[in-house]
Amino acid sequence: MAQLSDDCFAFGGPMMSVDDAVAIIAARVTAVQDIETVDLRHADGRILAAGISAPLPLPPFTNSAVDGYAVRHGDLPLTAEQAFPVTGRVQAGASAQGPVEPGHAVRIFTGAPMPEGADTVFMQEDVRIDEAGKVVLPGGLKAGANVRPAGEDIAAGTRALPAGQRLRPQDVALGAAFGLMHIEVRRRIRVAVFSTGNELVAPGAPRAAAQLYDSNRFMMMAMLARLGCDVSDLGILPDNRASLAAALKKVAGAHDLILTTGGVSTGEEDHVKAGVEDVGTLVLWRMAIKPGRPVAMGIIDGTPFIGLPGNPVASFVTFAYVVRPTVLALAGALQQNPMPMPVRAAFTYRKKAGRREYVRATLRRAADDMLEAVKFPREGAGLLSSLVQTDGLVELGEGITRVEPGQTVGFLGYASLT
Ligand code: AMP
Ligand code: MG
Repeated sequence: MAQLSDDCFAFGGPMMSVDDAVAIIAARVTAVQDIETVDLRHADGRILAAGISAPLPLPPFTNSAVDGYAVRHGDLPLTAEQAFPVTGRVQAGASAQGPVEPGHAVRIFTGAPMPEGADTVFMQEDVRIDEAGKVVLPGGLKAGANVRPAGEDIAAGTRALPAGQRLRPQDVALGAAFGLMHIEVRRRIRVAVFSTGNELVAPGAPRAAAQLYDSNRFMMMAMLARLGCDVSDLGILPDNRASLAAALKKVAGAHDLILTTGGVSTGEEDHVKAGVEDVGTLVLWRMAIKPGRPVAMGIIDGTPFIGLPGNPVASFVTFAYVVRPTVLALAGALQQNPMPMPVRAAFTYRKKAGRREYVRATLRRAADDMLEAVKFPREGAGLLSSLVQTDGLVELGEGITRVEPGQTVGFLGYASLT
């Protein structure tokens, strides 16, 4: 397990901005070092352990980009059309029988290697065959037209994928194009997940009148799975300091991160803070974001601990801004801070300067084809429907105090936050 120092999450200020949080996490969390080799088929979503340089050029050989006729450009009259005898035929996967003869054309197909001497290809749609079977080539085609030179995509030896890349389907395709069957990735990080609260019961269990089903744990586990973590589902802990402390201590050694929800406010029945302090160290990060509540950051036997607030929306948002960067840092991923996309606000909003606010919103296409963000009508931090019925979050920066309809705002789709 990555061992972190007890004070690694210490923070001097009274309120922490999202940027401060991300910077502290990136600077102080160390990545797991273990490397494993995975079959390319299982590489999607994994974190590349070392950069990959191109072992061969792409494309590997110069080839035709179209079905047509390959010629030497130097043989062509620049403007007039001219008939060339067709000698030879090269299909994709075959090699040319010989060099193209001066003044001749070679029938060629997409992906077939260029015959020696040929440097330009006429598309079959742009030519005709005359009565003598010659191909009539129009004038005016540029040298090198419709040819894909070896290495035009990626030259041999160039760095094609950086260490820490969280592999996407297109990255996997690149590995395959290089002929790689296996990829070295960091091992998955192991995350222990607990919910806390006497009022919670697991779905499927009998529910007393004053109880509700635990939803946060399932949300967190789903988000962690998307981030490529191995998740240990450790169920629900009661609001009891001793049992919290014992449970957290027990799992620290075998996990890279411990995650809880609930019990981190400052009420008398919020025992997570005290429970963590019994077995490790803890700081409360008061984040300058809304929705959001204090996030508890701690270290238990060298393993980072994050305690999220219990309200589902606060828990979702703080997951996106604190847990997600921590998971990526532990996993050895290059940080990819989600980039808000500009959309037009279709709502009015007032906010305090100095904190960042996230407005749950649905996108719609306006009459002029621009995307507009429509604010969810209610704001409660407990409303799961507000997450379910929207497409993402409008991010309103610290400097903003008001939003008027028509103003451009930044929008983050949920897919970019999970
Ligand atoms: P807490 O942060 O423990 O004070 O909880 C704040 C609110 O979130 C309370 O109304 C809790 O019942 C609710 N809550 C806490 N944990 C969960 C959970 N795992 N699933 C759904 N709601 C929760
Ligand atoms: Mg609670």
